[in-house]
Amino acid sequence: MGVPAGVLIGVTLFDVAVVGLGPAGRSLAHRLAAAGLEVLGVDPHPGRSWAQTLGGWRRQLPAWLPADVVATTAHDPQIRAADSYPIRDEYAILDNDAVRLATTLERVTVEEQVLGDDDVAALRQRARMVVDARGARPAGSGGDVPHQTAHGILVPPEVAEKVLCGAEAVLMDWRPFDGAARWGVTSPTFLYVIPMPDGRVLLEETCLAGAPGLSQGELRRRLLRRLELSGLGGDQVSGAEVERVSIPLVRRGGHIQGVMRFGAAGQQNNPFSGYTFFASLSAVDGVVAQAVRGELPGRDQPLFVRRRALHGVLNLSPDDTYALFDAFGRLSPAHQRAVLDADTPGANLVAAMARQFTLMPLARGLGLARATLLP
Ligand SMILES: Cc1cc2nc3c(=O)[nH]c(=O)nc-3n(C[C@H](O)[C@H](O)[C@H](O)COP(=O)(O)OP(=O)(O)OC[C@H]3O[C@@H](n4cnc5c(N)ncnc54)[C@H](O)[C@@H]3O)c2cc1C
Repeated sequence: MGVPAGVLIGVTLFDVAVVGLGPAGRSLAHRLAAAGLEVLGVDPHPGRSWAQTLGGWRRQLPAWLPADVVATTAHDPQIRAADSYPIRDEYAILDNDAVRLATTLERVTVEEQVLGDDDVAALRQRARMVVDARGARPAGSGGDVPHQTAHGILVPPEVAEKVLCGAEAVLMDWRPFDGAARWGVTSPTFLYVIPMPDGRVLLEETCLAGAPGLSQGELRRRLLRRLELSGLGGDQVSGAEVERVSIPLVRRGGHIQGVMRFGAAGQQNNPFSGYTFFASLSAVDGVVAQAVRGELPGRDQPLFVRRRALHGVLNLSPDDTYALFDAFGRLSPAHQRAVLDADTPGANLVAAMARQFTLMPLARGLGLARATLLP
């Protein structure tokens, strides 16, 4: 086998190579370099700004990020199902440009390339530690996995108030979009309502997990019907700017020996939410400490429990899904965090999910057990 271009046999040029400089990889590369390590970063478009909205729990933001990365916040966002349940926490939406400014790559050697799995493995000859942060959908890969899909519109706050009804944000409104008492055989979706940095409010109909995820057309139809029932129709919503979301919930491809996965590429992937960035930020310091100590990455953390949970969500009947999230709303704040946070240790996650199970009506709980445990 030939030696990849740029490899000096027997000489380790870099302490760490980070492949993929999206939000997660860039933050990690920045902090590794700030700790005095020699860092190589690889991405085909390292200067490209991020179009996606980055939201998550404020408490997960590390102290090294300046306060101005937070563009807007909402307190106690609600879960709505049989009742309305506030989640006692603060939700933040980031200013993406401020995050990029706070995570400059000045001290990182950047190469603009697309790397396949073999190229990533070969980087072990150029760096003591190699991190794969190519996201959940690395360039050059195909195939299909479960996706979260969503269709949202941006409206002025006075329009959104008809849906918010006094809440600062709604994380998930699981009530049927057409006003029906039950979902029946219709695959369920929820409404997400969140204030955005520019003062507008995002109203987004979301399919939590689907293989394939629900189409944009169907999500839009549901969103408009739901809003109409809240008294929002016609001119108030028809010309509004649109956000379309499609997030893979499981990373394709296997483990590359001796390479650590970071960000949506694996380690912080939360199949429940599809949102990974805040969990990635909270994990950065641990990886930097590991790199400073010169520890090589071990195998990825087992994601077994979350994969089983995703399997359950994909197989759950519509009304069992509704009951599951109603029970989630009634969990203690500590248990809610355990379910929401991607880095919750497996045992704590199991304990929180078991409690959620006991809060469901028996028949619905048995439906959940079947969906989760059966192949
Ligand atoms: C509309 C929308 C809204 C979202 N909202 C949220 C939210 O509110 N909160 C949240 O946490 N997440 C949200 N997400 C998901 C969000 O995209 C991820 O959480 C976040 O981008 C993960 O960052 P990452 O750096 O791990 O991966 P990515 O953002 O996917 O970055 C991967 C990087 O790797 C590079 N790369 C890819 N392939 C290769 C290759 N072969 N070789 C070299 N480099 C490669 C890419 O160029 C990219 O820079 C949203 C997504 C969408 C689409």
